[in-house]
Amino acid sequence: MKLIPLPAFNDNYIWMLHDGHAAVVVDPGDAEVVLDALQQLELKLQAILVTHHHGDHTAGVSALRESTGAAVFGPKIERMPEPLTRLGDGDHVEALGLSFSVLEVPGHTAGHIAFVVQPAGQDTILFCGDTLFSAGCGRLFEGTAAQMLHSLSRLAALPESTRVCCAHEYTASGLVFARMVEPDNPALLAYQDQVTQLRAQQLPTLPSSIGLEKAINPFLRTHIDAVITRIRQMDNSARDPVSTFAALRTWKNQF
Ligand SMILES: [Zn+2]
Ligand SMILES: [Zn+2]
Repeated sequence: MKLIPLPAFNDNYIWMLHDGHAAVVVDPGDAEVVLDALQQLELKLQAILVTHHHGDHTAGVSALRESTGAAVFGPKIERMPEPLTRLGDGDHVEALGLSFSVLEVPGHTAGHIAFVVQPAGQDTILFCGDTLFSAGCGRLFEGTAAQMLHSLSRLAALPESTRVCCAHEYTASGLVFARMVEPDNPALLAYQDQVTQLRAQQLPTLPSSIGLEKAINPFLRTHIDAVITRIRQMDNSARDPVSTFAALRTWKNQF
């Protein structure tokens, strides 16, 4: 199985997984980008997976479905281009001979879902939409801090080698904030060097991995003493895990 990020708009990635014959795409905000890739690689589109309702993730869905006949799968409770199969926690999508399992991860939006798949002999893949970014997480547009903290903890529980396919190239800016939170974290410094080099060549910084994110992403580290201390310096209303996470998210919003 090949995993490819197709760049779209300013900083979106439409993830494509294919076996040389058939393909699955995630969050096609732009149909043209996907149609070009299908034509170039001589692939047939089998399924379209959608994580949440935002336009930069859904705007290409109808055109793609109409021109390829691919089946569409999306969240249970969000407004979506119809028709589609709606999925909730524990549901599965069968495509490419693989089983994609669905996790409900509310926070960025109320019904946001993520897809997890493990191709034979390869590391697990997570398509997390706008829930988890490398060195960051999605804004809380519809959900609460408690929901997002819980959603992120579910993603963090995946195997460390899991390839994390975020829907935006936000890594470099996420790292600037992460270094404000943890200026003394050596893993952050090393990763920032690597990301700077990749971006200088206009290469994607993704996929990341769960192991890497647990080492550098402040939003997965709000249980670490140094992180808690730093958040409380900025906002003394941070007390329990949820208010600490909420204070970090607010700090990032204002950053
Ligand atoms: Zn979004
Ligand atoms: Zn987005």
